Amino acid sequence: MESNGNQFLIGGIPAVQIAEEFGTPVYVYNADKIESQYKRLVSAFSGITFKVKYACKANTNINILRLLNKLGCGLDTVSINEVKLGLLAGFPKQEIVFTPNSVAISEVIEAAELGVRLNIDNLNILEQFGKKYGRSIPVCIRINPHIVAGGNKKIQTAHLDSKFGISIHQMDKVVKIVTENNIHIESVHLHSGSDIKDVESFIQGLDALFEVSKHFKDLRYIDFGSGFKVPYKKGDIETNIEELGARLSEKFQAFCKNYGRELELWCEPGKFLVSESGFLLATASVIKETAAETTIVGVNSGLNHLIRPMMYDAYHEIVNASNTTGATHAYSVVGNICETDTFGVNRTMHEVHEGDIIAFLNAGAYGFSMSSNYNSRFRPAEVLVYKGKAQLIRKREVFEDLLAKQVEVEL
Ligand SMILES: *Cc1c(COP(=O)(O)O)cnc(C)c1O
Repeated sequence: MESNGNQFLIGGIPAVQIAEEFGTPVYVYNADKIESQYKRLVSAFSGITFKVKYACKANTNINILRLLNKLGCGLDTVSINEVKLGLLAGFPKQEIVFTPNSVAISEVIEAAELGVRLNIDNLNILEQFGKKYGRSIPVCIRINPHIVAGGNKKIQTAHLDSKFGISIHQMDKVVKIVTENNIHIESVHLHSGSDIKDVESFIQGLDALFEVSKHFKDLRYIDFGSGFKVPYKKGDIETNIEELGARLSEKFQAFCKNYGRELELWCEPGKFLVSESGFLLATASVIKETAAETTIVGVNSGLNHLIRPMMYDAYHEIVNASNTTGATHAYSVVGNICETDTFGVNRTMHEVHEGDIIAFLNAGAYGFSMSSNYNSRFRPAEVLVYKGKAQLIRKREVFEDLLAKQVEVEL
């Protein structure tokens, strides 16, 4: 968090000023933070060819995509529309990987025809794809090594009956399909969930990929996924990126030597690149003393804009951007959605008054991209702070947007 005297700043600009100019609720992203996270990750790895693919489901604003493309980052996509957004944002085809789950073969074929790289995580799809394309289009396969890692259960992907990846116990089936259809496997991949803090889990994952690699002679890269944990509060544990980079680089060098060729090492973070860059700014609409001890701050936003606290029990730090000094109190901060809609309980904040700007931190990933019109409320505007300037990158919705796709019929 940046603050300068009494001001809460985002990329050098007072949050209250941004709120005044663009209104609230508004998502604000600091481009400098995205850039520094990208550079930090890249420089943690050395002595190998290392590539980062931004998992764009975290935040698909076209300007965020363009920024990461400009920095030299690639793209990890999970739907055909994300593939198309990536192409529109200027990513070269071969820098985009399509890593879908539970999609029909037709969607995989559509991506293949667009010329992006493909990551297949299903034996039936692999077989159908091989029958159609044979060796002409190389593919990556997503392996599930069943290494349980990550935070909340909803973001773990490693269990034996997981829908993600091809089980490491089904490698004989993979090899059979690959041989019979003369498929070129150019990569092996895993992604074991999100909020994985210990470097050891990544090492285990990479070891599993090395093991699988011996089945394939024509690999070009190995993709160890992501799930790097970012700090959500002061003193919070995060993945030690520097240690991760040093240890994986060393292991990878040894592996390449063994394999007999220099391969590329890839990873595909979402949260790590954009989470800390983002803030959701809302306005305190009401202050409410309850019959108990708690004082409630109700804001003009809710789980329709930032669902992570309610969906994953995620902790987002909450700051009163209008008042950064003086007495503090404990507050529960809630949204305006008509069901339980709690951003945080018992949070210490500088005294809150109606009209104050409340900032939710770490809101750059899975914030706007998971937002909805629930309760017929508008989705927020988005603002990018780039080179010291705050610019609108998505307009706030208006009433017509709520009806735009509805069709009135004769009743
Ligand atoms: C969501 C996802 C990621 C990114 O996860 P983060 O925790 O945001 O880093 C990476 N790879 C795949 C395949 C994903 O689905």
